[in-house]
Amino acid sequence: MRVLCIGECMAEMVPTGGSQDYRLGFAGDTFNTAWYLARSAPRVQVSYLTVVGDDAISAQMTKFTRDSGIDDGLIRTSPDKTVGLYMISLDKGERSFSYWRSDSAARALADDVDHLRKAMADADVIYFSGITLAILPDAGRSTLIDAVKEARAAGKEIAFDPNLRPRLWASMDAMRDAIMEGAAVCDIALPSYEDEAHCFDDPTPQATARRYVDAGADTVIVKNGSGAVIVFEDGTWSESPVHPVTDLVDTTAAGDSFNAGVLAGYAKGAPTQSSVAFACNLARAVVQQRGALVPIAADELTLDEKT
Ligand code: ADP
Repeated sequence: MRVLCIGECMAEMVPTGGSQDYRLGFAGDTFNTAWYLARSAPRVQVSYLTVVGDDAISAQMTKFTRDSGIDDGLIRTSPDKTVGLYMISLDKGERSFSYWRSDSAARALADDVDHLRKAMADADVIYFSGITLAILPDAGRSTLIDAVKEARAAGKEIAFDPNLRPRLWASMDAMRDAIMEGAAVCDIALPSYEDEAHCFDDPTPQATARRYVDAGADTVIVKNGSGAVIVFEDGTWSESPVHPVTDLVDTTAAGDSFNAGVLAGYAKGAPTQSSVAFACNLARAVVQQRGALVPIAADELTLDEKT
């Protein structure tokens, strides 16, 4: 089974205590999912498709990708660009983020349509997000959506996390239109209710699921923080309980790791209910540690395929 994740990985500066001391890391929504997937499904080939620069930080990022067990063979290089960057600031325990990504190399990830098509042809599952769509220029976004649509018609499984980020879009309407275009070409939609309620005025998680089903998704899995996960599949609703943590540390990458759990389950041929339960366990472990990419204990990585 080959899973292709498409999007942007950024350099990350994490404060280490002193007011001017930072540790360099690498993260980004679709990359985080690829990272957790590589950990939780070692037999799955996970590839990451993006564009980086031709400089030292880009080489470090590509090496990190490789060292994480993610195939870097589809990463293209743009000689006159570099990778995006974000810095985490801490003020009395509250995190805030500053971004330098508006001219990042990843914005060209859909410029080479032949590369995109070939990468998709070689994959069984294709995963992208609303952030992947947000960073692209209009032409690139259309190219990506068209390529995904073709891949779906050719029998590939398409997974899409809308990952709504109004600040990355020219307007709320532009975001809503593009997200629903993404929804129309996916098999599995993985929205987060809090964001969807805010941006689409959905009164309930079921309303969110219904909107993605109506757009064309076969399976919709609605994350809802510490609330139950709502699943719509084959015309049937179900709920998966979430066991809220008592020691919530940092919700960064909760949704990204959850998506990795769902994809790991899919790749292993597990029923959706088991995949969602596994995804909840994985995300539960992630929110109890600081940072996007956290070490996960082996028992958190066990998927019960029988349930
Ligand atoms: P996102 O990160 O996309 O906003 P959510 O906040 O909805 O996504 O969380 C994704 C998943 O992380 C949830 O479905 C749940 O499985 C897990 N999760 C989030 N918050 C908690 C919590 N307080 N306790 C346990 N699990 C949690």
